[in-house]
Amino acid sequence: MDKIVSLCKRRGFIFPSSEIYGGINACWDYGPLGVELKRNVKEAWWNAMVRERDDIEGLDAAILMHPKVWEASGHVENFTDPMVDCRECKARFRADQIEGAACPKYNKRPASRCAAEDKFTEARQFNLMFKTFMGAVEDSASVVYLRPETAQGIYVNFHNVRESARRKVPFGIAQIGKAFRNEITPGNFIFRTREFEQMEMQFFVRPGTEMEWFEHWKDQRIAWYLNLGIHADRLRFHQHGPEELAHYANAAFDIQYQFPFGWQELEGVHSRTDYDLRRHQEYSKKSLLYFDAETNQRYIPYVVETSAGCDRTLLTLLVDAYTEEPGDKETRVVLRLHPQIAPIKVGIFPLVNRDGMPELALQIQRDLMRHLKVFYDDSGAIGRRYRRQDEAGTPFCVTVDSQTLQDQSVTLRERDSMEQERIASSALLEVLRQRLSGA
Ligand code: ATP
Repeated sequence: MDKIVSLCKRRGFIFPSSEIYGGINACWDYGPLGVELKRNVKEAWWNAMVRERDDIEGLDAAILMHPKVWEASGHVENFTDPMVDCRECKARFRADQIEGAACPKYNKRPASRCAAEDKFTEARQFNLMFKTFMGAVEDSASVVYLRPETAQGIYVNFHNVRESARRKVPFGIAQIGKAFRNEITPGNFIFRTREFEQMEMQFFVRPGTEMEWFEHWKDQRIAWYLNLGIHADRLRFHQHGPEELAHYANAAFDIQYQFPFGWQELEGVHSRTDYDLRRHQEYSKKSLLYFDAETNQRYIPYVVETSAGCDRTLLTLLVDAYTEEPGDKETRVVLRLHPQIAPIKVGIFPLVNRDGMPELALQIQRDLMRHLKVFYDDSGAIGRRYRRQDEAGTPFCVTVDSQTLQDQSVTLRERDSMEQERIASSALLEVLRQRLSGA
């Protein structure tokens, strides 16, 4: 993890937030490469979940919602974690995560030892929602919450989307957006933060058909990660046992990834019954019934949800792609990112800065940049430039050399194999497009 955090900082993927002020715990900023990677992750998800399906609509709901939403959803009452304080150093821990946590005062000392020495307070329930005030008056009537998940924006818009898009059950609504949780113990870089982005989809189905859809969505979602090139042996399903299962769910699986700090949840696939819509109907006093013309029945649809973290997916992709290849002189660090999500698609270099090579390379840059994210680099030895792009995960590099001046051919170098071939510069865009699309 230390190597990945340091690469992310050095290469402009991810910086600590407000760094010039000493940073703020567990908040991170995405730099030039990080923001491209994140956009590509979201686009890959949106394409798979919305554009390439004919049964899902998109939505972008507000972060601030009516406070009653969070009463109906159960978050005001139940969205809590048990918390303990250390009486000696005042550090705060999640009571169910003391095992594996370290005392911040004595850096390497396990927090479980402090617990054994009876330094901790009794566990208290701590609500994870961020509370703020809307309008000029700070009283209980103006309390609003930053949403702790995007799903509720989807439930409350069920009829709006269904009617305007003229949808029939089964269909889904997808949304990508920020969520906020005042986590007691954030950490492991961007794995658990207090501000993060979710990519969620709620699929509304006829009651009794939810298990078929549940299986469908389990398959689809794991396939999505595999298609992004994530190692199959580092992905697995974890089924929620009776004690883990939320009271409203009738089946739940997590997709887990083997991070350097252990197997952890990447995404949840949950069968949530009619709990959410039923509760919103009860609290809003607006009917959320659906009339099914095929069966001539009126019912509250059941929901199968897929809930992924965008930042956590990004961390997974970085961890999974990071490779060190020992060489004679130095170790080559490569991010073997899938070309579809790599922040930069092509590096463009003049071999030397004379004889008209920079002009030709700049012309290639101008031709390609309208279609692909490219990066022009004319500084340092060519080997160094290749290494810099390897570390950024750039799948292809194009070099203009003396032969280009004679026959307009360039070398095209592939990141993982490091193989080079000569191709006509006029064919470059077409060849790159084919290879980037996996053809
Ligand atoms: P945990 O039990 O680990 O706190 P959770 O089960 O509450 O997580 P969900 O509510 O199912 O998580 O959230 C869905 C997805 O949102 C998670 O799989 C994860 O990818 C992402 N996510 C949740 N909390 C965070 C966080 N604090 N930071 C980053 N991503 C998060």
